[in-house]
Amino acid sequence: MQSLLDAFPENLTSWLAEQAQPAFRGSQIQRWLFQGRADSFDQMSDLPANLRDRLQEQFQIWSTDIALHQQSADGTEKLLLRLADGQTIECVLLRDGQRRTICISSQVGCAMGCVFCASGLDGVKRNLTSGEILEQMLKLQRLLAPGERLSHIVVMGMGEPLANLDRLLPALDWAHRRDGLGISARRITISTVGLPPALDRLSRLEIPYHLAVSLHAPNDDLRNQLVPVNRGIGIAAILAAADRYFQVSGRRLTFEYVLLGQVNDQVDHARQLAALLRGQNALLNVIPYNPVAGLPYETPSAADQRAFCAVLTRAGIQVQIRERKGDEIDAACGQLRRKQLIGS
Ligand code: SAH
Repeated sequence: MQSLLDAFPENLTSWLAEQAQPAFRGSQIQRWLFQGRADSFDQMSDLPANLRDRLQEQFQIWSTDIALHQQSADGTEKLLLRLADGQTIECVLLRDGQRRTICISSQVGCAMGCVFCASGLDGVKRNLTSGEILEQMLKLQRLLAPGERLSHIVVMGMGEPLANLDRLLPALDWAHRRDGLGISARRITISTVGLPPALDRLSRLEIPYHLAVSLHAPNDDLRNQLVPVNRGIGIAAILAAADRYFQVSGRRLTFEYVLLGQVNDQVDHARQLAALLRGQNALLNVIPYNPVAGLPYETPSAADQRAFCAVLTRAGIQVQIRERKGDEIDAACGQLRRKQLIGS
């Protein structure tokens, strides 16, 4: 059996040609996958029955199983997917007004080592394939009710997307192609710890994806502790690469800052951060720490969060505190998988 979504559509196109099938059969199957939300070849009712049978013998549409499906009262749904090799990954659907945002993973585990993040606690296991990345989008799309439409994608699940660009980019292509999911590149956010060579590669593509850079500290001393991969890079190099991306995309950047009580949430940190970001056309997304079992960090009080943001606002920086959604279903990256791994 071949995986349909990996190497899609080349594998399908060449197989159809071998079977002396007209090329438009490929377009029909593509429409069923992306617009028709079909789950099986059986449902592709405009294909001849014998072709459906042969497709079924040759290809599997899905390479993952839903190991867990959780729903919370605010409309958030989370899937824990079991991959063919037994590894698990997470992906999430968030509902907010008319918005239907999905959050997808790019790797099993993560090598960046951020000390407050559940995904990287056991390092990186492997990169996801393009098909596995695309499959998350399609499986989440199939959770929507008739009349609901995916509007946004954030690559903010497990893994560092810029460490797996070769496989991420083909999947994102299908996300924004009109004959794919048709989501505009501006509504697709790539969240990264900041890897300058990969950022430059993204700049050269000239596709206006929205970029979010996870900063978490206003100086290299602190960032080296919180985001160990920073040791070989440094904030200045990341800001310069982000700036080059901005020059090409013209899109306002987002900086993310996980607020850890007593660690990076003091007024002095806010002042340094304001100085760092002054003059950048950027939004600062402040994310109160979401507790991870076994880690020593604390979520700052609401008053401390406001005090931190007030310093930045007064300095003219655009700040937003990210609203927490799906807390009760462990919707922060890597938490559901971790619970399964450690069996708590
Ligand atoms: N590797 C990428 C994308 C995955 S993480 C990146 O670093 O951006 C997505 C966001 O969630 C990052 O900003 C990350 O720092 C944040 N995050 C990770 N663990 C968290 C936690 N326990 N609480 C709050 N935010 C967290």
